Amino acid sequence: MEKECIFCDIAHGKAPCDLLFENERIVVFKDIKPHCPTHLLIVPKKHIRSVNDLAEEDSGLLAELFYVAKEMAEKVGVDKKGYKLLFNVEKGGGQVIFHLHLHLLAK
Ligand code: 5GP
Ligand code: ZN
Repeated sequence: MEKECIFCDIAHGKAPCDLLFENERIVVFKDIKPHCPTHLLIVPKKHIRSVNDLAEEDSGLLAELFYVAKEMAEKVGVDKKGYKLLFNVEKGGGQVIFHLHLHLLAK
């Protein structure tokens, strides 16, 4: 857990969020400032700064992020209509929270 990381705090229950899913490795919660009617964040509990910092050993975790995203899309009922999955990478890619997270966006 990283000091002064809001997503570490949320993932470890030390800051509030609108939590939709949790297992040992991943949490899913609603984005505080949604860009779309459905805007979820799929977040590993492990602190990884960005996609640039993924290690080979994280490949299982990364696959699980996508699997959980697909399950969440079904759960909130946007799977058939369709949705976007997005990683912003570093400042130039629009990343503002430097703890890896996958956006699930649906209109
Ligand atoms: P990024 O631009 O880093 O890919 O996305 C960060 C996202 O996290 C933004 O959409 C922003 O609204 C959301 N966010 C920032 N702080 C918080 C927070 O404290 N709680 C929640 N639920 N979302 C947050
Ligand atoms: Zn963190």
